[in-house]
Parts: sequence; structure tokens; C-alpha cells
Amino acid sequence: MEKKDKKKVTLRVWKEFDLGEIEKHLIVVGELSGECFFCRQLGIDVRQGRCPNCGTEFKYMGFRRKVNGKDIVRFKRECPQMIFIEFEDFKKNVSRERAKKLLLRD
Ligand SMILES: [Zn+2]
Repeated sequence: MEKKDKKKVTLRVWKEFDLGEIEKHLIVVGELSGECFFCRQLGIDVRQGRCPNCGTEFKYMGFRRKVNGKDIVRFKRECPQMIFIEFEDFKKNVSRERAKKLLLRD
């Protein structure tokens, strides 16, 4: 008998990541298309697994706009391998690292 209680939902989780690894493999999605975080190429179709400009493989996806569970389910269907990250969290950490590097330089 098939179980009917397998209701799938999307939940946000906390997980440790290597910042440099994300910086190299991130596509940032705006309204319609994506931007390669590594080389800043714009207008990338999110279903493309790689950047058409620098060839980087996309493993992580972040969003410039507010997204909800439904959006994530839709993107997940189009890009099943992708790990979805909270772009604000990522940006905060990138800024923190850049500030640290600037301090070390002096
Ligand atoms: Zn690129």
C-alpha cells in the first residue's frame, strides 16, 4: 500500500560552507536570468550548468530578490543538482572577509 503522508516541503537549514568554493561556483539569479559571480557575465539561462563566458560550473544558486518555497521547488526542478543558498548570508561573509584582507594589508 502506498503511503500518502510523504508531504514534501522546503525548509531553510544552517550549514557550514567553504566561502571560496561558493565564490567560484555561484550563479546569482535576478528577475529572469542569472549572473556568474566569478566573472560577472550577465544574462545566463539558469538551466545552463556552466558559465558561457568563463566555463565555471554552477553548483550554488543565490537570489537577488525575495524567494519562497514555491520558487525554490521550481528552480530545483530545472536545476536538480543545485544547492540553494541565502544570498544575503553569503554577501555578509564576503564583505567580512574582504574587510579582514584590507586590514591585513596595512
Ligand atoms: Zn563566468
